[in-house]
Amino acid sequence: MTRSGLDQLQLGNRFAELPASFYARVQPLPLDNPRLVAFSSDTAALIGLDPCQFSELQLSEYFGGQRLPEGSDPLATVYAGHQFGGYTAQLGDGRALLLGDLPGSDGQRWELQLKGSGKTPYSRHGDGRAALRSVIREYLGSEALAALGVPTTRALCIVGSDTQIYRDSIESAASMVRLSPSHIRFGHFEYFYYSRQPDQLKQLSDFVIRHYYPQCASAANPYLAMYSEILGRTAKLIARWQALGFCHGVMNTDNMSILGLTLDYGPFAFLDGYQPDYTSNRTDEHGRYAYHQQPSVALWNCVCLAQSLTGLVKQADLESALSRFESVYAVAYTEQMKQRLGMEGKERQDGALIEALLQLLQQVNADYHCAFLKLEQAATGEVEPFIALLGDSPQVRDWLSQYLSRINSDATIQMKQHNPRVVLRSYLTQQVIEQAVAGDFSGLVKLHDAVRAPFKERTDIYAQPPPEGDKNLSLSCSS
Ligand code: AMP
Ligand code: MG
Repeated sequence: MTRSGLDQLQLGNRFAELPASFYARVQPLPLDNPRLVAFSSDTAALIGLDPCQFSELQLSEYFGGQRLPEGSDPLATVYAGHQFGGYTAQLGDGRALLLGDLPGSDGQRWELQLKGSGKTPYSRHGDGRAALRSVIREYLGSEALAALGVPTTRALCIVGSDTQIYRDSIESAASMVRLSPSHIRFGHFEYFYYSRQPDQLKQLSDFVIRHYYPQCASAANPYLAMYSEILGRTAKLIARWQALGFCHGVMNTDNMSILGLTLDYGPFAFLDGYQPDYTSNRTDEHGRYAYHQQPSVALWNCVCLAQSLTGLVKQADLESALSRFESVYAVAYTEQMKQRLGMEGKERQDGALIEALLQLLQQVNADYHCAFLKLEQAATGEVEPFIALLGDSPQVRDWLSQYLSRINSDATIQMKQHNPRVVLRSYLTQQVIEQAVAGDFSGLVKLHDAVRAPFKERTDIYAQPPPEGDKNLSLSCSS
């Protein structure tokens, strides 16, 4: 299906089927002097939008809050969530509006959310705006993960403006359109549970089953079946993150998708040097959301979701579902790592071999992504680059010989499909943000082009590890 223009975006809104206690109707507040900063043709293709059919001006009007797509009835939804371990009773879309949804090229419905669209009843003390800096991060992060095949929300476009906002300093505001089959979070369930609205909690669960997990409707307990699905998808998502060295940064329950998608990109980062306790968010002093904590935090978040469902599912059943998290995670993680290492089949020592590699990487803070590329070379007989990366020692040589005896001669075919050549390095993201804030979007376009084809062979800066001083940066969470 192709839509010839933006005026053909006919939106419905399934979320509006839910009662008024789930949302507030809010109109976007237009940005001053909107202009297109970035546009993802990959995301546009998901909803059949052909970029040749409309101008940049039209795009910036539609998605800078000046005009609304046909049929749009914008809503801000209410949710709550555990933030850094503590419960916050009232959150919600404080700076995003659900514009509506529409069928995509594959028939599934996509919600369009406009982020940075002004205040809503859930803005608390915020201004309802998003800094250009932060939407560029979300845009690049989501498109990079999508290209790697990781479940995520998608970014359609960024609209910049002359509107000023106050963060650590004065910054310019922007908006971003993101797409997802659903933006429902664990925190939506928590809101209705903790505010003692059991009828709404059941309505929300029924809505999620009807639209996203229809196969659960015929289960003995559909709510338990839904919970098991969410838990399984969450465990598998985190396995993808861990295998790729992705740190989300703020895994609060309000940032956890009920579809197991990567959602709400704040101070996220891909690892550079392999440091398991790396924490991408500068203000996360205790490392609650450090890279190596992500699987256990995801489980903790699933416990929060289970608690919210105790009125619909027996506690023993929820506990039994939860008890499967670790094994689902471990199987998925090992599978991902074996693909990266070109290890086919199953052998008893596989887990230990992977663990030993990670320890070697950690000892010398070796670049996580380069290590896999050097192993590809080792698999073809060229072992020196790997030894040079890890340092020549009996342990390294011993590990390498065990590894080489474990793989087949055609291992590199598999490895090339699973080891990205291009990784979205934080220092590159920072560079293009600085350029974009100064009005030059060319670096952003080039970096986006690089990360949307991560398996393409290249030798330029996008395929190199960062310079020494630019490794494992930690990032501000102000956005
Ligand atoms: P985040 O840390 O971006 O996941 O946001 C946590 C909560 O704060 C969400 O409910 C957001 O909608 C809200 N929020 C974050 N920034 C702003 C802002 N500038 N204005 C209004 N609400 C915001
Ligand atoms: Mg959030």
